[in-house]
Amino acid sequence: MLENQIDTIPFRVTDFKQWVYCRRVLYYLYCLPKVRPVTYKMKAGIEAGLHTEELEERRSLRGYGLDHGERRYNVSLSSTRYGLRGIADMVIDSSEDGVHEIIPVDFKDSDKAGPHFALQLTAYALMLEETLGCTIKRGFLYMIPLRHAEEVPINSRIRTRFANELDDLMNMLYKEAMPVPTRQLNKCVVCEFRRFCNDVL
Ligand code: SF4
Repeated sequence: MLENQIDTIPFRVTDFKQWVYCRRVLYYLYCLPKVRPVTYKMKAGIEAGLHTEELEERRSLRGYGLDHGERRYNVSLSSTRYGLRGIADMVIDSSEDGVHEIIPVDFKDSDKAGPHFALQLTAYALMLEETLGCTIKRGFLYMIPLRHAEEVPINSRIRTRFANELDDLMNMLYKEAMPVPTRQLNKCVVCEFRRFCNDVL
């Protein structure tokens, strides 16, 4: 049964959100034949992203520390190497002072950077590197409520963290290894999968 659910690109970049929240959530999503409904919060996030794209068209690139650059929106990316697929909100192609840069930008409907945000941005960066044959040194998280672009270095530290998290994800999927539950039991109280977690509640 599980083999039928696995293709060569099993994970979405957005899965890192659930993975960081509680690893077991993703286990249920991938290892149980269950379709998760789109919640109001998810819908609101999508609409906020679309609105930001419209406003972004009118803004300069100064918020990203750039004078010039070409912006592309909703860039579809996939990688058999990483087993990931996703859509980067925006990719800036910049050439300034003889330096050519490809810069991924992720729009977030949040006023603080969650721990999964940098992982998602790194995923987009690595897929862009694979697709375009370039090296990406940085990306931005655009915090929609704050109208602020936060720079995130795509350095060896975040690359190593990403690789470790991806190894654990693959281990869960291919070995059907159920992850340990979250230690923050307050998350379980509102979790849609709580009826499956008899060992925590
Ligand atoms: S009930 Fe708790 S441990 Fe189980 S999936 Fe939900 S958040 Fe994770």
